[in-house]
Amino acid sequence: MSRPALPQPPLTCAGQTLPYQLVRSPRRRTIGLKIDEQGLTVFAPPNLPAAQLETLIQTRATWIRTKWTECCQKSALRVAPREGAMLPYLGRTVRLSLDSGPTRLEGEVLYLNPGRGDITVKLQRWYQAQALPFFLPRVAHYAEQLGVPLPAVALSNARRRWGSCHARGMIRLNWRLLKASPAEMDYVIAHEVTHLRHMNHGPVFRETLQHLYPDHAEAHRTLRERGFLYHAF
Ligand SMILES: [Zn+2]
Repeated sequence: MSRPALPQPPLTCAGQTLPYQLVRSPRRRTIGLKIDEQGLTVFAPPNLPAAQLETLIQTRATWIRTKWTECCQKSALRVAPREGAMLPYLGRTVRLSLDSGPTRLEGEVLYLNPGRGDITVKLQRWYQAQALPFFLPRVAHYAEQLGVPLPAVALSNARRRWGSCHARGMIRLNWRLLKASPAEMDYVIAHEVTHLRHMNHGPVFRETLQHLYPDHAEAHRTLRERGFLYHAF
């Protein structure tokens, strides 16, 4: 019979912290590792020295970190928004409160009238309705900086792409960018506006983008890391 899991302090693996528990069992001859939404569980023989465990965990640190990240991503995508959910909005988080009044944002609380419909669909509609008024002035700003005419802008609902620019000069921006930070949003907008001049990702494109939005590399990195959170609904 396994002993109950021993509560352990959170573990840091390859720079990432995750919950950790140790289960010692007399029937075990080898060490086993399991990663799920609860964190890392280590199954070990009863008398295995702690130092040996620590060494094994550190040698598997990269694998643990990767698995944990995947696990967090999957669970974030599964959670349907409900009362009290913390929602990303313009780089901050707002709390969802279900309320029978009109849907509105007051301070850091988003009051949503659930009515009879699906909360996720209502939330998406609210974000979509907010998106263009935020995007358009940023597009206008970068178009002016670059000296190109203001393009037509439409929303997209793509599962992966944040934006696209068509040869005829229309820019499409994913409405979920409204959940991103202003820096991440600006990065995507500056990138697409740069395509109005250069329809490729060659050296001249990169040079122009660097000039237009000097922090693009950092914003690109954080968007790659956090983007899955913005796709949760
Ligand atoms: Zn591009």
